[in-house]
Amino acid sequence: MNAEIISVGTELLLGQVVNTDAAIVAQELSALGINLLYSSVVGDNPERLKEAVETAISRSDLLIMTGGLGPTTDDLTKETTAAAAGKRLVLHEESLCRIQTYFNAASVTKNQEKQAWLPEGCTVLQNDNGTAPGCAFQAENGCTVIMLPGPPSELEPMLKNYAVPYLKRGQESVIVSHNVHIYGKGEAPVAQIMDDKMNGENPTLAPYAKEGECLLRVTAKAKDEKTADEMCQPLIDEIKRRIGDYVYSVDVETLEELVVMELKKAGKTLATAESCTGGLLSKRITDIPGSSEVFHMGCVTYANEAKEALLFVPHEILEQHGAVSEETAKAMAEGIVKRSCSDIGVGITGIAGPDGGTSEKPVGLIYIALSDGKNTWVTKRSPIGRTKSREWHRHCAASQALDMVRRYLTGLPVIPES
Ligand code: ATP
Repeated sequence: MNAEIISVGTELLLGQVVNTDAAIVAQELSALGINLLYSSVVGDNPERLKEAVETAISRSDLLIMTGGLGPTTDDLTKETTAAAAGKRLVLHEESLCRIQTYFNAASVTKNQEKQAWLPEGCTVLQNDNGTAPGCAFQAENGCTVIMLPGPPSELEPMLKNYAVPYLKRGQESVIVSHNVHIYGKGEAPVAQIMDDKMNGENPTLAPYAKEGECLLRVTAKAKDEKTADEMCQPLIDEIKRRIGDYVYSVDVETLEELVVMELKKAGKTLATAESCTGGLLSKRITDIPGSSEVFHMGCVTYANEAKEALLFVPHEILEQHGAVSEETAKAMAEGIVKRSCSDIGVGITGIAGPDGGTSEKPVGLIYIALSDGKNTWVTKRSPIGRTKSREWHRHCAASQALDMVRRYLTGLPVIPES
C-alpha cells in the first residue's frame, strides 16, 4: 500500500508552524509497514488544494490529509477533498450533538455546525479532544482518504485510537513492529553490522538514528499477531547476538524508562549529583511515572563550594584536578551515595559549552561516575571533532549516565569493553 500525506495550512508554508502532524502520521504509517511516498504542504487555497488532492488520489492507495477541518472559512479541506473525490457533504447528526455538548449549548453557530458536515458514507473519526471530527472514506477509484484535524493534540489521539484501527480493519494481514534500542553504537556501524539483513522483505529491518543512540525496527507481516511476532523473533535474536550488550531494550522506548524498571526489579535506589547537565538526568528519571519508588534525590552542584558542602568533595581534589576531572566526578558520585543513603550514586561534571573550553579541557569533555558505595567507575566523554550544541552534550552525558546505571543493574561491565 502506497500512502501520501497532504498537510493543509498557509501557516505551515510560511514557517510559522512546524509540520509536526506530518511527522506523527509518517511514524505511524511506518509502524504499520505502509510505504509513504509523498508528503506535501498546501496553503488554504481551494484551487491548489483541489489539484493536490486529485493528483494524490490518482497515484496513491491511501491519502491522509491534516488540518483545515475547523469552523472558519479558511478551513476548506473537507469541502475541497470531498468534491475532488466525487462525494457530497451531508450533515452528521451525532457529530452535531457532540459539538453541541462540547459547547454546552442547545444550538451552535453555522460556523460550528460546518464541522459536522462530512462526506456521504464516510466513517466518522471521533474527536475526543476538540470539536472537528475526522473522517475516512473510499474515493471512486478505491483510494482510501482520511482527514484529521490540525492541532497535534487532537490529531495524534484520533490517529492512534480511530484511524489506525480503521486501516487495520481493512487489512487481511497484520503488521507487527518491534524496536530494538541500542546505546553506544551509532546508526552507521549498526547498519553495517546488520547490512546483510537489511534487504529482507518479511520481516524487514530498518535503522533509525535517535539523539546519541539508535534503533533497529523489525517489522513482519502475517495472518495474525502471533505469527508476525514469531517471524520477528529470530531477527531480534540475531541483532542481539551481533550487537551484544549495546542493545538496551526491545520495545522499552527510553533509557530512563528502562533504568527505572531495572531499579525496581533490583530493589535499589538511585541519587544523582550533576554539574554540567544541570539536573537533566534527574529530570529524565522523574519524567517516568513511579520513579519516586527508586529515585531518592538529585543535587545540582555548579559551584565548587556546593560540591564541597553538599557532596563532601575534598577541597584538595578541586584545587589539584579542577572541577572537570575524573577525581571530582568520582568524589561527586561517592558523595551523593553518602548524602542520600542511596544504593547507587551518579556524578557528572564537564564542559557543555559553547564557551569555557581550553585545549587541555575542551568543550564536550565530560566525566561521568557511578558509585555503589564500595566501587566507583568513571567514564570520560571526549569531543569527537564535531561542533555539537550545549544541549547535545548535556543530553548525551545524561544518556551515558543512564546507560552506566543500566549496565550496573544488569550485571554487565559498567564501562563497555570496546
Ligand atoms: P481547528 O478546529 O482548531 O480549526 P483544523 O483542523 O481546522 O482545527 P487548522 O485550522 O488547520 O486545523 O489548524 C489549527 C492549528 O493546528 C494551527 O494553528 C496549528 O497550531 C496547528 N496545526 C495545523 N496543522 C498543523 C501541522 N501540520 N503540524 C502541526 N500543527 C498544526
